[in-house]
Amino acid sequence: MGTPTATIRPKLQSLNPATGELFAEFDPASDADVKAAVARAQQAAPAWRALGVHDRARYLLRLKDVLYDRRNEIAALITREAGKPLVESLVAEVLVALDTLDYFARHAAAFLAPQDVPHHNLAVRLKRGRLEYEPYGVIGIISPSNYPLSIPIGEMAPALVAGNTVVLKPSEFTPQIGLAIGELLEAAELPPGVATVILGDGTTGRALVSAGIDKLIFTGSVPTGKRIQAAAAERLLPTVLELGGKDPMIVCADADLNLASSGAVWGAFTNAGQACLSVERCYVVRSVAEKFTRLCMEKAKQLRVGPGDDPSTDVGPLIRERQVRIVEEHVADAVAQGAVVLCGGRRPAAGGQGSGVGGQGTATIGEASPTPNSELRPALSLSPVPRPPSPGFFYEPTVLAGVHHGMRIMREETFGPVLPIMAVDDEAQAVALANDSEFGLSASVWTRDLARGERLARQIQAGAVMVNDCISYFGVCEAPHGGVKASGIGRSHSRLGLMEMVRVKYIDVDLVPKLPKLWWFRYDGMVRPMQGFVEFLFAGGVRRRVWGLASALAGLGKRRV
Ligand code: NAD
Repeated sequence: MGTPTATIRPKLQSLNPATGELFAEFDPASDADVKAAVARAQQAAPAWRALGVHDRARYLLRLKDVLYDRRNEIAALITREAGKPLVESLVAEVLVALDTLDYFARHAAAFLAPQDVPHHNLAVRLKRGRLEYEPYGVIGIISPSNYPLSIPIGEMAPALVAGNTVVLKPSEFTPQIGLAIGELLEAAELPPGVATVILGDGTTGRALVSAGIDKLIFTGSVPTGKRIQAAAAERLLPTVLELGGKDPMIVCADADLNLASSGAVWGAFTNAGQACLSVERCYVVRSVAEKFTRLCMEKAKQLRVGPGDDPSTDVGPLIRERQVRIVEEHVADAVAQGAVVLCGGRRPAAGGQGSGVGGQGTATIGEASPTPNSELRPALSLSPVPRPPSPGFFYEPTVLAGVHHGMRIMREETFGPVLPIMAVDDEAQAVALANDSEFGLSASVWTRDLARGERLARQIQAGAVMVNDCISYFGVCEAPHGGVKASGIGRSHSRLGLMEMVRVKYIDVDLVPKLPKLWWFRYDGMVRPMQGFVEFLFAGGVRRRVWGLASALAGLGKRRV
């Protein structure tokens, strides 16, 4: 036998997605590091639990204060390492994280208070039931790259306030933001071991799943979620899986088209399309399709693509080159099957960043349409004159028409700045197509008739549906977040997300313990009384019930103890 060789693991790279420049490299945590972090969390758990919810909430408020003190620096770091425009770093990351800490600090005690359980059955009225909520112990959190602050904080806050200790493994693409979260925890003076950040990649994540944690909260893609669920099944590890989406947007004939097109463009292109809740498919009723599509195209062409730290930038880069290639593949597949590129559809040229996409396109309004009979034509040829690609991982905001469900762009998560628009006959067809997907994270319906909006919302298979807005509910602390079908299992955010961080224990106290329990041994002579009791409790009509009670009492009288 040869001597075992140590595997050399690739370093984690902190890159500037706008330029590809390498900022720093980090060693991923080893299996031993992961086990040590979990062991420290296990040791810290009893004292943290004993502290009580009010004191734990005070730590959350301290964490909020230290994050607030460093808000601009942290937002700039997010923009540097994740690429998103500074406005998005402030709103979708810092503001959401601050609000989440505040929300759980203020409401956890009420949500976690023991609850009396009144008994409806006469036979057990002399027992007092109560639900109590206990922390799991150590919660492992594995988070993705697209919201590297607000997602981990959104999961750590309820886990900690419920009395769990936490080990967080952030995305390998945002190690410096992970380290900054560690610094914030330290600055908030959480007791040692209560919350630890370990840097690493998928291998580190795998090690965390099997390191003795008591529950795992995972946010990421469907393939990784499936692998994790299989590993978790081996040890019956409870999980929450927040996975990918292919969120549909339905535009009704009566929609405010100006509002809906602005919503579509923001919903598809915010964070360069890298939101689990992005608008990834749009179904518009045919009578308004041409106008809606034209508005989307015009608005998309006005967006400025560039580095996130340029204040005029609307759409930043994607996180990595691999993600740009996926977007290119989806667009190429759609075009090969007849889709029309109304704007975008390519990487920006070198030096083209910072300018609106419209500056490079050639489309004329009135030339493109989502329907075959359309007068609208492609804005761009997909085999353009060769031009030097821009550095960094940019892709132009892209509007596609003439798409159908045989295309990858309508079935697989693209996770990039593409808005495919499909004209439909009516709302019923839109709902059928929206539901024709393995995903079910969220959806949106756009109509002036709010009752119609709610009716359609009920027909869509998704964890959440917004009427006349999209994505924004992610920032509403009271709104549960989570998917149906392949989009996940369980919920995060809100009271329901807090409930995922606790085991429910039922405590039952017999108030009159000396009263004989008729269902105990011995059974001899008990058939008739029990038949009587069943009659008494459940028979239709007063006479039969009275007869049942009398028969039960008579039977008991004859019973030999
Ligand atoms: P990803 O699945 O590639 O990685 C997510 C995390 O899992 C990373 O930290 C990664 O290191 C870790 N990981 C990878 N393999 C692992 C393994 N075998 N065991 C344990 N951990 C492992 O996802 P990503 O590219 O970082 O994020 C994008 C995906 O996340 C998209 O599909 C998006 O829709 C989804 N997402 C979902 C939500 C939601 O709330 N539903 C939110 C944000 C992102």
